[in-house]
Amino acid sequence: MNSIIKEISTLRKQLHQAPEVSGKELNTSNKIRTFFEGLFPDEIVNDLGRYGLAIVFNGKEKGPTTLIRAELDALPILENNSFSYKSIIDGVAHSCGHDGHMAILCGVGLILAKRRPQYGRVILLFQPSEETGMGAAQVINAPNFQNIKPDYAFALHNLPGYDLGEVVLKKGAFTAASKGMIVKLKGRTSHAAHPENAISPANAMCELISSLQKLPTDIQAFSLVTVIHAQLGEVAFGTTPGAATVMATLRTFDNVVMHTLTESAISLAKQISRFHGLECSISFTEEFQVVENDPEAHELVDGAVTKLGLNKKDSHTPFRWSEDFGALSSTTKSMLFGLGAGKAHPQLHENSYDFPDELLPIGVDLFNTIIEKLNH
Ligand SMILES: [Zn+2]
Ligand SMILES: [Zn+2]
Repeated sequence: MNSIIKEISTLRKQLHQAPEVSGKELNTSNKIRTFFEGLFPDEIVNDLGRYGLAIVFNGKEKGPTTLIRAELDALPILENNSFSYKSIIDGVAHSCGHDGHMAILCGVGLILAKRRPQYGRVILLFQPSEETGMGAAQVINAPNFQNIKPDYAFALHNLPGYDLGEVVLKKGAFTAASKGMIVKLKGRTSHAAHPENAISPANAMCELISSLQKLPTDIQAFSLVTVIHAQLGEVAFGTTPGAATVMATLRTFDNVVMHTLTESAISLAKQISRFHGLECSISFTEEFQVVENDPEAHELVDGAVTKLGLNKKDSHTPFRWSEDFGALSSTTKSMLFGLGAGKAHPQLHENSYDFPDELLPIGVDLFNTIIEKLNH
């Protein structure tokens, strides 16, 4: 085990040094492929959502297909660490720890290469574009995914703010559904000396910003609207503005509630723009479904935690952030769980964040124990 951890710790640092943002993970994908080519898996499946790939280890007898997921992408963040393996790509960093998640799967692969599963098969999925919420859906919709459809799917995410190595489990909803809403208001410009000739969206924009954020008060279940950006006209002191944009993030712990919140937000934007005589166009981006943990998959992870004698925390409320693993959890018995990265560790997406290597053996042990249970 020690030699495995040493190898994946080195690999983790190499991945950390050469991060790539969502949808552009070409070199990362190639590096993972090269790593596994040396291990002679039964199959390497490419073209899973552009640069996504899956490594397949077959068992000798019939049994379940167990999929374990890691993410390929990094973030458009300028890293401010000074260690030797800090990012050499300007303005891009592995500030979410996906380098560590990938290294853990590589460690599981090293074990599987020496000891194939007995039953079914194990699939190590390296998915692209987690940060934008696009990747998991792209993988699932890729034609090549049809042949590797799993019976069970597992993933972990490191969690700063929790004790190092503590496993955070929750049944049911684990992370929120979220989506970005873009509202464009269009009126008519005029000279700033004659605002009466313009149709300015200024008042409508203000109304929309405050009303959107109040929408959740009418909804019984948890929901949240956060206005994240707004723009009015251009910087031109001689012009009354004729256009505005408001962007907000919608969040809920339930996909049905998300539908209700979305409908309310759309009708609110339309109502305000109509009242002010403006044209209104609405679009959505970066859509994440709720990650819904399956009871049976939860049992399997819980059992592995007990067997390994790890510290465990049962969480009772879902996290407000989102994870695109929700696209997998809507079709497969699946479980996403947290792994504490240290109470005082820099938060995810902070520019000083670095994945703690202490989690590498814990992650490998956990997934390996689940595989032992399902595929041996
Ligand atoms: Zn992230
Ligand atoms: Zn992440």
